[in-house]
Amino acid sequence: MKGMMQHRPLLISNILEYAAEAHATCEIVSVRTEGDVHRQTYPQTLKRVYQLANALQELGVGLGDRVATLAWNGYRHFELYYAISGQGAICHTINPRLSQEQLIYIVNHAEDKVLFLDTTFVPIIEGVRSELPADMKFVIMTDRAHMPENSFGALCYEELLEGQPETFDWPEFDEETAAALCYTSGTTGNPKGALYSHRSTTLHAMTLGLIMGQSIPAEAKVLPVVPLFHVNAWGIPYASPLLGHSLVMPGGALDGPSLFKLMDTEGVFSAWGVPTVWMGLLAEIKAQGRKPKGFSDVVVGGSAAPRRMIETFEGMDVHVGHAWGMTEMSPIGTHGNMPKWVKELPFDKMIDLKAQQGRRAFGVDLKIIGDDGIRQPHDGKAVGELYVRGNSIVSGYFKNDEASAKAIDADGWFGTGDIASIDTNGILNIQDRAKDLIKSGGEWISSIDLENAAMSHPGVANCAAVAMPHPKWDERPVLVAVAASEEKPSLDELHQHMLEHFAKWQLPDDVIWTDALPLTATGKVSKLTLRQQFADYTLP
Ligand code: ADP
Repeated sequence: MKGMMQHRPLLISNILEYAAEAHATCEIVSVRTEGDVHRQTYPQTLKRVYQLANALQELGVGLGDRVATLAWNGYRHFELYYAISGQGAICHTINPRLSQEQLIYIVNHAEDKVLFLDTTFVPIIEGVRSELPADMKFVIMTDRAHMPENSFGALCYEELLEGQPETFDWPEFDEETAAALCYTSGTTGNPKGALYSHRSTTLHAMTLGLIMGQSIPAEAKVLPVVPLFHVNAWGIPYASPLLGHSLVMPGGALDGPSLFKLMDTEGVFSAWGVPTVWMGLLAEIKAQGRKPKGFSDVVVGGSAAPRRMIETFEGMDVHVGHAWGMTEMSPIGTHGNMPKWVKELPFDKMIDLKAQQGRRAFGVDLKIIGDDGIRQPHDGKAVGELYVRGNSIVSGYFKNDEASAKAIDADGWFGTGDIASIDTNGILNIQDRAKDLIKSGGEWISSIDLENAAMSHPGVANCAAVAMPHPKWDERPVLVAVAASEEKPSLDELHQHMLEHFAKWQLPDDVIWTDALPLTATGKVSKLTLRQQFADYTLP
């Protein structure tokens, strides 16, 4: 027997309309490319979204069309999220740090009809225009006074909105209609597109809302440092309007001093981003001898949060949520809001657990498959590849049957490519990406564990452990490290320090000092680049 309840489609347009009514005084505060700080409330944003939706229709955008963005975090980018998806078109966010080749590939693969860009990215489009579809339209996200010269006949964002009606009747369509498209950075082969639907995005926003609701009070200010071009800024632009947070959008200034100043002036409560960004902020906090005013919560994800980083934040009374996820998962998989008993543990023990990836979000099922293809127990010991299942997880890749077939197992689970264990409390421990694990003499060594141990030495500011080929042992670990000061610790000193956590054979064979580690398009340390960089390296 079926229940007798109404069925309303879960559509993204409902989110902003709700926020404009229920959280009318909350603001979007944006650092603009024009050089100033701009503020508007959710009701003001909704009016502009209506105007933009009318303008998009005039540009010929309709149901199922792809509209691309190449932009920083700011209110205009936020408006595009809602105006595009609200009318049944698809918001395709492009990462401006992709190579020219990848950018050309994804715009053509997605068949984008219109591309909206910040002034900063005009040179990128100048460089690739001839390789993009001939009938593509371009809109630069600024006003007439700031329109840069360009050779691709771009329209002006504010002019498009001017005079448009401040109302729009959202069409009603199936909740499974595609709403947004984001390509993975494609470290091997071409990037693959995760195509989110209205249903998956709305459910993800509600799930993320459950997590945010535990650690962030209503009307607090939330700073997504994670870009709107990377997995929908982890879902914040959808969840925060539901919860009644004000959003602080940093534009392109993501260095430590700029972030510190913005957080301090605005009184940001919670900030979200990858570990490399927080290294910059922590350096500034150290230089200033204090944390930004009101800063109380930080969410770290995208790659493993170094243990020392967690310890430093917690030591200054900033709650750390260490989260794990993937582009293919919208992205939240697990989060770091720990149960009460963890918070009551001695500080060191608590940090040990926080360095792991936390518990699954509601609606995300996890399973671990061992080398033998058998499902492993969640006992904290058994290790294997992590598979996931849920309503906000891809069922395949956009226009890519080959990759889709490989991604999903016979029971409908998505293979993450991560190697992990789960303990009896449901806490996930990511050991490594399968491709980054170091295999020495038939035994695995976790690069994440090595990095954490090395970074707990005060002389190491940042590091990556990579596998180097070895004639006898197949592979041996080597540390590529950035020193914290002129005085670099010797390999011997590092070994002594790391022996507490490792057997001798697991310790790195060498340490290579460098000024900076190479980063991927999403700001993570790029081990692929490191492996290429040191292809000719021979072990001592
Ligand atoms: P890409 O970096 O390839 O563009 P994603 O952002 O989707 O794509 O990366 C997802 C991967 O990042 C995960 O599969 C995992 O390996 C890694 N990752 C994300 N969060 C964490 C974390 N908290 N700890 C360890 N690894 C993480």
